[in-house]
Amino acid sequence: MRSKGAFRTGIARDSNLTEASVSRILNELRKENIVEEKRQQTSNAGAPTGFVTLSKDIAILGIELSNSRLSFGVGDLKGTLDYVERMPASPQLSQQDFEHLFAEGTANIREWIGARGIALRQAAMSVPGYGREGGNPIYPWDIRRLALLLGEALPGVPLTFTNSVIAQAAFHRYSYPAGYDISGDHLFLFAGHGVAGVIVNDAAPVDAFSAFEIGHMVIERDGLPCRCGHKGCLEAYTSLRAISPIIGLSDADILTRGDHFMEALSVDPTARKALRERQFLLGLALGNALNLHSVPKVVISGWPSLMPEADRVAIADGLNQSLLGGYSPERLELAFIEPLIGNDPKAALHYAAYCFVRGGALDEKSGQHAALEEIA
Ligand SMILES: [Zn+2]
Repeated sequence: MRSKGAFRTGIARDSNLTEASVSRILNELRKENIVEEKRQQTSNAGAPTGFVTLSKDIAILGIELSNSRLSFGVGDLKGTLDYVERMPASPQLSQQDFEHLFAEGTANIREWIGARGIALRQAAMSVPGYGREGGNPIYPWDIRRLALLLGEALPGVPLTFTNSVIAQAAFHRYSYPAGYDISGDHLFLFAGHGVAGVIVNDAAPVDAFSAFEIGHMVIERDGLPCRCGHKGCLEAYTSLRAISPIIGLSDADILTRGDHFMEALSVDPTARKALRERQFLLGLALGNALNLHSVPKVVISGWPSLMPEADRVAIADGLNQSLLGGYSPERLELAFIEPLIGNDPKAALHYAAYCFVRGGALDEKSGQHAALEEIA
């Protein structure tokens, strides 16, 4: 998934299987239309050999709860969305109303895929704050019930839940050319509608990590109200919603403009100064987080990634005031990558692709998947 394809010889080497075994498995996968193979020249001069890529014909479903909306998308393993529906979903909805909305979305999908003869192989849903033992104070609904609802509308489609920031990390890890090339332990920090992070280790699967709710670190006692019910959380200062009044755009406008929203800022010195202060706070909280869990690299994805480099220095200034020993680029590598804003449910779709591939592309209903997990 990360390299967008592999030569047979490479697969044999990485999997410690003989080329004969690899060949037999690839034949099966090709028969099931899961992989495609083309003869291609390797980087070394020599005879062309089989280059294996994932099939474009596997349909998966991504569902995202973000930006106060519930979005559904059907697409392929490369993350191309062919169907998108986005519904407003206020966190104030009752469980019943929320389930009604979810059922409506899945019924629309059933109709859409039915008309096209498409069979979904995997679904994934990302939810901010998902996975906390104490429950989710922002999206209070019982999410587990959704798997039952999905089972009624789309029988046999496995549904995996994850935290939004893990889906964001999956997007950046597996999408091309947006994917980033950072190796070793690092903190992936996302500043979008919410602010959250996840420690990513290059050598481990993306769902092996737990989300880091840095957005709810209180940085100002009795400060601005946060949607979690507390006051003075980092999110209340540095989320998209928090900075939208500074830019003079509603968060809905920011979503419509997607990755180009900063162009609307032009050069307004007052707004830029206010945004620098918000970036300083982000740096301050980041330094505190790194004092608790030290990593040598941080990758920031979100609106700060779209700010001029001269303004982003404020993050380093904030870090310098909280990080133990101060901040220096030699000790902490800071990288910025373009955010995914307003493209929901693309991140969930990428996570669904990841789940499908991780499961060995086996159908859950066939029982093979469960058997394999038992062996593992
Ligand atoms: Zn909060």
